[in-house]
Amino acid sequence: MTTAKANRKWSDARLKGRLPPQLVRCPGADCGQYIYPGGKKCPHCGGVLVTLKRKQLGALRKAEAAAATLKRILEGL
Ligand SMILES: [Zn+2]
Repeated sequence: MTTAKANRKWSDARLKGRLPPQLVRCPGADCGQYIYPGGKKCPHCGGVLVTLKRKQLGALRKAEAAAATLKRILEGL
């Protein structure tokens, strides 16, 4: 019973107040799965994380620009 043993270990770790390994979200727009940090590729979508992050930043900047435009329009009403 490997699973039960692993579960017991996990709850022991929680009792001792240890945090589970820190997971990050995949920056892929269509993925967003939880992955371990430090990897180069997402095991879910197979995307290269550096490329996906760059794309995400670009999309964020676009969204910020759109929000700024929207704010200007709303303030002008
Ligand atoms: Zn992914």
